[in-house]
Amino acid sequence: MSKRDYYEVLGVPKAAGKDEIKSAYRKLALQYHPDRNKSAGAEEKFKEISEAYAVLSDDEKRKRYDVYGHVGTEDAFRGSEANFDEVFRDIGFGGFRDIFEQIFGGRGGFGGIGGGNDPFGFGFNFGGSRRKGRDVLYDVELSLEEVLKGRKDEVELPKLENCGNCNGTGASPGTKRRKCNVCNGQGQTRRVYSQNRFSTFVSLEPCQTCRGQGEIIDKPCNVCSGSGKVRKIKKLKLEIPAGVEDGMTLQLRGEGEPFENGSAGDLLIRVHVKPHPRFERLEDGHLLHNLDLQYTDLALGADLRIPTLDGSEKIKIPAGTQPNTIFKIRGKGLPRYGGYGKGDQMVRVNVKVPTTLSEAEKSLLKQLDKQLKYEAENIRQHF
Ligand SMILES: [Zn+2]
Ligand SMILES: [Zn+2]
Repeated sequence: MSKRDYYEVLGVPKAAGKDEIKSAYRKLALQYHPDRNKSAGAEEKFKEISEAYAVLSDDEKRKRYDVYGHVGTEDAFRGSEANFDEVFRDIGFGGFRDIFEQIFGGRGGFGGIGGGNDPFGFGFNFGGSRRKGRDVLYDVELSLEEVLKGRKDEVELPKLENCGNCNGTGASPGTKRRKCNVCNGQGQTRRVYSQNRFSTFVSLEPCQTCRGQGEIIDKPCNVCSGSGKVRKIKKLKLEIPAGVEDGMTLQLRGEGEPFENGSAGDLLIRVHVKPHPRFERLEDGHLLHNLDLQYTDLALGADLRIPTLDGSEKIKIPAGTQPNTIFKIRGKGLPRYGGYGKGDQMVRVNVKVPTTLSEAEKSLLKQLDKQLKYEAENIRQHF
């Protein structure tokens, strides 16, 4: 399942201005705010609209989203507090921190974000109420030719899946987990230490009986040894879209590791683009192609056929072209990620000076040299 388009989520057109986006979110927030709307799915919806607003209310993030698409929930929210405070103040709710601490930190319900770190820098850890499986990172390496066309892959991913024998419970079929009576299901026990007659301290330690799980399995499943998980190789068809950039991470929701009574993590596809022997990638899908030519090609002009990423093109070098001149071949660069047209191939011509010369070439060059000096002398006498 992929994420819905943020514009669609807020019900605004792509060209919507800031006020239009704000008022769309304000309306939806009033409708789905967890303090008002207790119906099933309202929190999930509130999270979705808030993530969309976090991105579209911030110029930088919006621009990045328009070009690259979804990047991940953590990045979506980072730094957008002020934009939320403005809306929430308007509609009479607490600020960003109040709402999101309550939702992400306290009651849970949202499913952890990003797996247990502190994406908003609040100083508390979402991991305590993590309800999401681990994200799986998958690295792909592409050539520029593959960036041009996009690439289809079938990948084999090692994945932890819920054990089919026990349905992920870890308990042998027909039996159940039961609450640990040592820690009363808390997973922790209090231990009181006394340093001396006057001072003691209490420490919370993971319960030894249930290993911190809070539950005990009397008869572990014999397939997964009670872990509830089995390691499997899963084949997954991947489509790496055209125009991806080096260092980009694509997110496939729900294709990561499963989580018992929660949602699966995401598959994060980290893109690496190999350097190309001929073309250097520039901004906006443009490619730089350094082309070495003979002095005579530049001086006399030439019709050349030169390589492109997927074939070749004719270019005309006019007589008297100077070194470092750039010729553009329109549309022969890379597609811009997200469907915003293609870049150009920029051909920069350089002069190649020969390092070895035949006798015939040498004598021709000497003749030319003599002629050029003679002309220079004539010009000097004129002035
Ligand atoms: Zn216990
Ligand atoms: Zn099992």
